[in-house]
Amino acid sequence: MNMSTRLISSALHFFPRSLVSHNGVEYALAQTNSGTRLAVLAASGSTALIAFEGERVEQGNQTLLLAPLDAHNASALRAQLPWLQPRLLGLRTSAGMGDRLGLATPGHVRAVRAAGGKIAPIFAQQSIREMTRTGRTPQQVMDDAIWGIFAEGWQEGFGADADHLKTPADIDACLAAGFTFFTIDPGAHVDNRAETANLGELRVLAEMLPDYLQPRASGLMGRIFDIEGRSLQLDESTLLKAAVKYGRAVAHVAAMYQYLAQAAGPRPFELEVSVDETDQPTSHAEHVYIASELKRLGVKWVSLAPRYIGCFEKGVDYIGDLAAFEANFAGHAVIARQFGSYKLSLHSGSDKFSIYPIAARLARGLVHLKTAGTSYLEALRTIAVLDVTLFHEIYSFARQCYETDRASYHVSAELGRAPLPEDVEDSPALLEQFDAREILHVTFGSVLTEKAADGQKRFYDRFIAVLNSNRESYAANLEKHFIRHLEPFKESV
Ligand SMILES: [Zn+2]
Repeated sequence: MNMSTRLISSALHFFPRSLVSHNGVEYALAQTNSGTRLAVLAASGSTALIAFEGERVEQGNQTLLLAPLDAHNASALRAQLPWLQPRLLGLRTSAGMGDRLGLATPGHVRAVRAAGGKIAPIFAQQSIREMTRTGRTPQQVMDDAIWGIFAEGWQEGFGADADHLKTPADIDACLAAGFTFFTIDPGAHVDNRAETANLGELRVLAEMLPDYLQPRASGLMGRIFDIEGRSLQLDESTLLKAAVKYGRAVAHVAAMYQYLAQAAGPRPFELEVSVDETDQPTSHAEHVYIASELKRLGVKWVSLAPRYIGCFEKGVDYIGDLAAFEANFAGHAVIARQFGSYKLSLHSGSDKFSIYPIAARLARGLVHLKTAGTSYLEALRTIAVLDVTLFHEIYSFARQCYETDRASYHVSAELGRAPLPEDVEDSPALLEQFDAREILHVTFGSVLTEKAADGQKRFYDRFIAVLNSNRESYAANLEKHFIRHLEPFKESV
């Protein structure tokens, strides 16, 4: 009798893909009367059992341990099964799948599996802003992803992206939780005055930069670059504009990078630089400036998210001229290849179906797709079918919160254009209506944390209960939705 047969024969109700045998010990997720448990079966006295906390049942010379899915046991499991530890993805074509609820990873794993192993996944990914909004810690984000990876039996590796970090304290919290991919967002240090300043004003603003950020220190003044046959010259006004706009941002990235390198010590990590959340697009010349200056200041990075032209609104397709996007992206892709080979990152990347083939083709595999809120929308799609009443309550509430919650997001939805709750007949179809979709997207924090008069959470428990008792429906919705995201990128690998 082999090991896994023994655990199966123990009459527990297992998540079938979770069963695994490693170093003579069996592990699986099991549904019990007291909730989901990690089951560990080992020879009594096995050292593998020591690290876990839970209920122990002796079965002859074997011990069956049933452990709750908490942080302690997640850490113990990670120590036993090395494939549950995040690793570096390097320059492989990759996709980040953020999960604001902590329940989406099984669906993400299935989509990545369907893509035939061609896309390197990031299963743990959340920005500090979204963690604050959902009341989760970096450790919870990591652990939720790990339980999902374990549930699906995924052993092919994954990255963990601490997204949009702005301060050293953000780095500390995410490093402690085991993240391996750090996205530094220097957006607060981008000086948008450069966009409208004339040459005289640019000279004055440039003078105010610290010595080591002075345009002349960059060695770029007057340089001409050949961008695949097109020449790009950093004349005085172009360079000054780039230096004024991004100089302090580049310096902030370098400082964060040095802090991270020191704090991480011998632990390997990889870095993304994101300037996607700025008012104005990043020009090709500015991209050259950023890459060249990051290099000069000793930063090593695997991906960069410029602000591309057009609108990347949350959870909806690209808004803008596709030919213009193509020309814009093509230039960025050439620069990324010429300045040391790093990936171009597509932030707010979910649901941008019309640009995926363009980005995949032009990046030649050097691309990272980043998605987050769209998995929450798939949760709402699941609820829209299974609990119409709850879905309607959430939509009504989302409408009330929208004008406030939209402030920190790029969205253009108007309440007046979204159907009134009482007019919604086909609930899942509401998720295809542009305005309703954005309204539902940006209000997730309010929906998940809103409290009723009695102090209880108004929606959260019911929300999670529907998903927990319909795991297969949620996973199937996610799988279908993410296959659409991953397929176009698979072709270019
Ligand atoms: Zn972003």
